[in-house]
Amino acid sequence: MKFYSTKSKEKSYSFSEAISMGLADDGGLFVPEYFPSKSVEDFANLNSMAEIAQELLKDFFKGDVLEKNLARICQQAFDFEVPLVEVRPLRESVTATAAVPDVATATAAVGQSTQLGFQVLELFHGPTLAFKDVGARFLANCISGKKLAVMVATSGDTGGAVAGAFVGKPGIQVYILYPEGKISARQETQLTCWGGNVKAFAVQGTFDDCQRMVKSVLSSAEAISISQMKFISANSINIGRLLPQMVYYAKSSLEYFRAHAVKCNYIIPSGNLGNAVAAFWARKMGLPIGKIVLATNANRPIPDFFQTGRWEPRASVMTLANAMDVGNPSNMERFLDLYSDRAELQIEIQSGQIQSFSVTDEQIRQTIAEGPSRWNQIWCPHTATAVYCWEKYIQEPHWVVVSTAHASKFETIVEPLIQQKIPVPSELQSLLDRPTKKTVIHADLDELMRNL
Ligand SMILES: *Cc1c(COP(=O)(O)O)cnc(C)c1O
Repeated sequence: MKFYSTKSKEKSYSFSEAISMGLADDGGLFVPEYFPSKSVEDFANLNSMAEIAQELLKDFFKGDVLEKNLARICQQAFDFEVPLVEVRPLRESVTATAAVPDVATATAAVGQSTQLGFQVLELFHGPTLAFKDVGARFLANCISGKKLAVMVATSGDTGGAVAGAFVGKPGIQVYILYPEGKISARQETQLTCWGGNVKAFAVQGTFDDCQRMVKSVLSSAEAISISQMKFISANSINIGRLLPQMVYYAKSSLEYFRAHAVKCNYIIPSGNLGNAVAAFWARKMGLPIGKIVLATNANRPIPDFFQTGRWEPRASVMTLANAMDVGNPSNMERFLDLYSDRAELQIEIQSGQIQSFSVTDEQIRQTIAEGPSRWNQIWCPHTATAVYCWEKYIQEPHWVVVSTAHASKFETIVEPLIQQKIPVPSELQSLLDRPTKKTVIHADLDELMRNL
């Protein structure tokens, strides 16, 4: 299997090359040369994440130096649960304005009702309680043993997931840059608690400063001579993070298909579109996936594109779902590459196979506040965008809401809205109990270099 840049198909790369480069020479993103066809029968008797991953991903590893390691990589990366959990309403929504069948049940008492609900794909059972654990752990197991430096800028979940995935991996040094004072205390702990081969820099500047510094280091020969290691980026455009994200769509759609003999549909909280592109890829490969809805926060270039056909990226705006505060989603390039036949995309949009909705902070707040009484669930702000979309625009059976993080990571937003404490899962508590260490620096490249 070869990989190509979205910008030009002239040069091809192996999977390992694509991973270690991050971006192609021409600045494009790596995509596979084709998507192998899979049928439900190919996965008969395969149940665990690791088994399904191996069957799904083996063609992408064909001919690569990593091919012989795929089984081990899958075993080590997919070692936590990704359950599909059915939820039903305890009572009517008081805020969603979509038609609800019977108001008489509005005051229905506690207990599971027979009213229509949906499935929740819980992607928050990994070490740092966010879906980014999946891609980060897969990438880490792909490059483990090589002598590499991994550098990443973060304002939220990425840094913790990358640190947690790479900590203790032989040969690898990890550098995390985050904007000092601009993330929550709990988030900061998840970046600074690792020690060992993970070094956290608190940069006195903005997230954009951090990102700029990372880019400079990645393209700098000086950095290599200081550390004597090649630097790679572990941000979400790395193909080594994207391919494994197909696995939870494969597993959950197969599980649903086996139980109900119909395809399930997904609502995906989206920012940079990495999670969603994996769903489109899995559907392209033939997995039993129906419609795909992209839920965004107030950053709305994606829903606007589906409505107007014009792609107009813009500056990001800050919202409660901050891991989705993206005004120029980088994976849009991969999405458009998948639909190089724009007529096909048009048909999918018009037939509702692809939809996208923007959700405001006020709607996120309402959805979170209602979560415990209506669904017996505590939603994180990102997941809440998808729940809102189901309530407002869907209200049909066979839908899966993708839950991208555990609410306890966003306690400062969620707890005041639900007026209760969120129980902290043991994975998170064990991180919060650790000693922390950070190196505070100015937003200055030389200072960063001196501290590597
Ligand atoms: C990163 C992230 C998202 C957005 O995912 P993309 O792949 O960037 O679209 C959504 N929710 C959470 C909790 C995240 O960490």
